[in-house]
Amino acid sequence: MENAWKKYQGEALKEVMDFSEGYKTYLTASKTEREATLEAVALAKAAGFKSIDEYDTLKSGDKVYFVNRDKGVCLYVIGNEDIVKGINILGAHIDSPRVDIKQHPLYEDNGLVLLDTHYYGGVKKYQWVAHPMALHGVVCKKDGTKVDVKIGDDPSDPVIGISDLLIHLAKDQMKKTAGEVIEGEDMNALIASIPSFDDEDEKEPVKKNVLKLLKEKYDIEEDDFVSAELSIVPAGAARDLGLDRSMVMGYGHDDRICGYTSLKAILDIDTPERTACCILVDKEEVGSQGNTGMQSRFFENTIAEILAKAGKYSELELRRLLSSSRMLSSDVGAAYDPNYPGVNEMKNTAFFGKGLVFMKYTGSRGKSGCNDANAEYIAKVRRVMDDNDVAYQTCELGKVEQGGGGTIAYILANMNMDVIDAGIAVQNMHACYEVASKVDIYEAYRGYKAFLKDMD
Ligand code: MN
Ligand code: MN
Repeated sequence: MENAWKKYQGEALKEVMDFSEGYKTYLTASKTEREATLEAVALAKAAGFKSIDEYDTLKSGDKVYFVNRDKGVCLYVIGNEDIVKGINILGAHIDSPRVDIKQHPLYEDNGLVLLDTHYYGGVKKYQWVAHPMALHGVVCKKDGTKVDVKIGDDPSDPVIGISDLLIHLAKDQMKKTAGEVIEGEDMNALIASIPSFDDEDEKEPVKKNVLKLLKEKYDIEEDDFVSAELSIVPAGAARDLGLDRSMVMGYGHDDRICGYTSLKAILDIDTPERTACCILVDKEEVGSQGNTGMQSRFFENTIAEILAKAGKYSELELRRLLSSSRMLSSDVGAAYDPNYPGVNEMKNTAFFGKGLVFMKYTGSRGKSGCNDANAEYIAKVRRVMDDNDVAYQTCELGKVEQGGGGTIAYILANMNMDVIDAGIAVQNMHACYEVASKVDIYEAYRGYKAFLKDMD
């Protein structure tokens, strides 16, 4: 396959570069699934989408969204064709690996106050120390109010951070394996060091000061951490990588990069033949369980609501619709990395600059746990991509038996629809700062739009 940059010589290069400006803004503003949801809804409203509650009935051309507990969103553009004949779905996850704080997090140790944490998702823990970090999330109080916390991303904000041992004293640490060199229980984040001098007998004077600050700024008490969801995430904005500005480095490409491109695809299409759907979902990084994960009934419930408001609901019609639907499970793939060529089998590897990545199957050790897309379906997907001049490539996640992974693909395939993994190649997956190619981001957006418009 040709390098996709070739299509965007001269004037056309601006299209590719401009698209990533919007993406960088979205990514910088979306450090948690809640923030990614909020940003998605704002963009959807600006594009004429309305909440399901605002519709009594639905007809062709209507644009509607459903929000699930502030942590995910399903968007639809109702098509011209009878919806029971199936819909075209793009699905991505908007949770990313991070370091969550515990319910009883605050403690003082020799004049320093720290937050105790429990990491979320599959991380190389040693990548998450000695960096400037931000604190994002919500604190829910007993009176029903919800306090938004966002510290560390505005350039005038302070940051927090998890320490690492100095090399000078790391003789024993350096002998440990990479998985143990930073122990999960040692990932405590430093947040303060000035004591309160109000009471000379105070045993935790720095903590007392921190609690005073929290009371003043957020009106929260120490007990309120019990009903909080606060995450430590890399601080700062997504930015261009490369002297030619051809790539984007940022926190949370996996999988907000497919979230944004899928979202933009559904926001930008005209009324399609088949109803178009975009699912942005939480909890993929920890197995997709729970009421905000893909395994939740939330998605099926939105379909039931749509059918009801289109005057077509019955259990049988719902089952028929699901069985006749098609999906691109939009999630990141592993990009070839010249520093680590040995993990790939080069004929079946994804490269920067070669466009949207299709993975027939994921899984590990003999494809275990994978959705394996049917050849008949892949042929249709190829036709749609070629008809729309979308650059695409196919890959596996590394060499056979090298490792593996999963996505939300199998969950929708279990509903008996056709699903294939289709995403964007990234380097540094699950590290604080991941990297992707701008032309791949643009081709993914174009491919997703083509799928919503032309898949039958
Ligand atoms: Mn992912
Ligand atoms: Mn992941």
